[in-house]
Amino acid sequence: MGAGRSLLLWGSKNNWMRNHVTNFTFVRHAVKKFMPGETATDAINATRELLKKKIPTTFTHLGENIKDLSEAETAAKHYLELINRINNEKLDIEVSLKLTQIGFDLSFGKTLEFFKQITKRAKECNNNVFIDIEDSSYVDKTLEFYKNIKEEYDNVGLCLQAYLYRTMNDLKDMIEINPWIRLVKGAYKEPENIAFKKKKNVDENFFELSKYLVRQIQERGIRVAFGTHDLRLQQQIRNEASVIGLPKEKLEFQMLYGIKTAEQFKLAEEGYNIRTLISYGEFWYPWYMRRLAERPANVWFVAKNIFRN
Ligand SMILES: Cc1cc2nc3c(=O)[nH]c(=O)nc-3n(C[C@H](O)[C@H](O)[C@H](O)COP(=O)(O)OP(=O)(O)OC[C@H]3O[C@@H](n4cnc5c(N)ncnc54)[C@H](O)[C@@H]3O)c2cc1C
Repeated sequence: MGAGRSLLLWGSKNNWMRNHVTNFTFVRHAVKKFMPGETATDAINATRELLKKKIPTTFTHLGENIKDLSEAETAAKHYLELINRINNEKLDIEVSLKLTQIGFDLSFGKTLEFFKQITKRAKECNNNVFIDIEDSSYVDKTLEFYKNIKEEYDNVGLCLQAYLYRTMNDLKDMIEINPWIRLVKGAYKEPENIAFKKKKNVDENFFELSKYLVRQIQERGIRVAFGTHDLRLQQQIRNEASVIGLPKEKLEFQMLYGIKTAEQFKLAEEGYNIRTLISYGEFWYPWYMRRLAERPANVWFVAKNIFRN
């Protein structure tokens, strides 16, 4: 891991930085590259534009590691209202959330209760919910949580990270329950004894996992979303699918709002399923720092905004 990436990921967890950095106008301008605005309405307006290109979206209302269950209740209420609104406005928008936003640091049982409320409402509205995956200290608990929720609901997916050595085992261990998976590389700072550190090794593992998943799509009909902007990996996955005769309509890619937008349009034009994940909300600091860490060159983009206005 480069020093720039390490520093940005360290900064993502630093309270002093959060309190100061978020007040700078130039940073607030720069955040707009990845976030259409702080409200659900901003994200819905962005979705309407993407839908013109046949690209549906997933919404994440930013928030994580809440300290009091009343905050979890507020977050859950937001998602319930959002799902109602999506249903009323007849838009193809799914939701994806972090378990620590609805109390995972405080109570497994309460988190399950809030999550079930959200999933139930989504099910009634013919909608789906994904669970974001957080740092490695949450993975065991999150898998247990997912297995638990899957016993009752089939409209739930889970994100897993290719940088962790354990992920192939986790997938195989879960495959009997027909999981829905969003595969990503992983956005946190992890130690060498549990995670690949070199990009080349992460990419290779992503492809190994993808080869396994592409076959599971074909054999079990499970839903898999390949969450990456890595065009080389996307191509490898497309090739693998065609080798085993999986039609392109069965492949789904997911990418983040504001990143490789032209390539997202192209995938849609070529007939692949592509869904854009849009994050919004006031609590954007740690999420934004992880986006900067993914491409430290983005820091220059922030710096350029100092000279705006
Ligand atoms: C839909 C989706 C959901 C995600 N959910 C989670 C989650 O729940 N948990 C989790 O740990 N991680 C999540 N991530 C983040 C993921 O783990 C990676 O950190 C991130 O996607 C960058 O890796 P990459 O696969 O795009 O490949 P990279 O090899 O890092 O990037 C490929 C190319 O994409 C471009 N690119 C990538 N990131 C950026 C950026 N921030 N800004 C500008 N250009 C960029 C660059 O040009 C780069 O060359 C998610 C990512 C996506 C797309």
